[in-house]
Amino acid sequence: MKVIVTGGAGFVGSHLCDRLIEQGHEVLCIDDFSTGSRENIAHLADHPHFDVFDHDVTFPYFAPADRIYNLACPASPIHYQRDPIKTILTNVQGTIHGLELAHRTGARFLQASTSEVYGDPDVHPQPESYWGNVNPIGPRACYDEGKRSAETLCFDFHRQAKVDIRVARIFNTYGPRMAIDDGRVVSNFIVQALRGEPLTIYGEGQQTRSFCYVDDLVRGLMCLMEDSSEAGPFNFGNPGEYTIRELAEIIRRLTSSSSSLVKRPLPADDPRQRQPDISRARRALGFSPTVDLHEGLKRTVTYFVSRTDLL
Ligand code: NAD
Ligand code: UDP
Repeated sequence: MKVIVTGGAGFVGSHLCDRLIEQGHEVLCIDDFSTGSRENIAHLADHPHFDVFDHDVTFPYFAPADRIYNLACPASPIHYQRDPIKTILTNVQGTIHGLELAHRTGARFLQASTSEVYGDPDVHPQPESYWGNVNPIGPRACYDEGKRSAETLCFDFHRQAKVDIRVARIFNTYGPRMAIDDGRVVSNFIVQALRGEPLTIYGEGQQTRSFCYVDDLVRGLMCLMEDSSEAGPFNFGNPGEYTIRELAEIIRRLTSSSSSLVKRPLPADDPRQRQPDISRARRALGFSPTVDLHEGLKRTVTYFVSRTDLL
């Protein structure tokens, strides 16, 4: 099949491109390289079934397609808050352009949505039926409300124009190929620990997150695209729940680091707790994460140790 992956040069997108190429598909990666990198896809550059289009999805695009995975969007708070207007444009216009292409070509369209649609949740763990608690005017809104609008667009294109859609709500995912300056907690802590710098805990570190290893997520996304007739939304993540302070301690131990922990101000609207209820994906797709946090972090640390530009 001809598969388009927008955001294919990013952390998750590049792993998705790998798996699709392994399965024999023709993959077109569309990326503007704003947070992704050519290095993430360098090993695919000469592959006869792989192509790259350096393009910003806020502008229309056309290519033949059977499947479209729409991942293009900065995902780390520091990146998506740097140019919030661009972030919401990427989510709204970028998704419209992907859906219009799906309409023209008859391609199936998968939207990479997020646990951020639940905001700072009052329901715990979060099932897909929960409508969320999002501040629509805060600094995270460009991303949270952008992703919520993108979901709306998917379902409206589905109802109105019969586009075949799938919506995946992705919870915190980590692994090799996160950028050194990504700014999200797992890569920050590993980079800080390996450099012998203090690990920066925002607030008291009592807020919780659930961390999914990238291979598990990519398997879930592909399964949703191919093995289900349900549009979703489906939560994808690993239900193991850790405080940020616990995560820091685990990473210090894994890296044998003597780094201290320092407190930094808690960013505005930082969700207090987050844990996916994945029973819908388990039931409908047989989805279940297989890599636990220790194993996933070990693999991620190995990756960062191999980065010669780290120190
Ligand atoms: P990432 O920043 O590594 O990847 C995003 C990619 O999109 C980058 O390659 C970037 O260059 C590209 N991009 C951004 N704006 C673009 C534009 N206007 N046009 C073309 N390309 C553009 O982040 P990631 O963690 O790989 O996230 C991938 C997707 O998954 C995103 O949509 C993100 O919102 C979603 N997601 C990720 C997580 C996670 O924990 N990793 C959680 C929830 C949702
Ligand atoms: N965080 C932290 N130190 C860091 C980076 C993040 O304590 O160096 C916290 C952040 O405040 C949040 C959690 O870790 O509570 C997860 O942050 P991340 O940016 O990875 O993702 P998100 O907030 O989008 O879930």
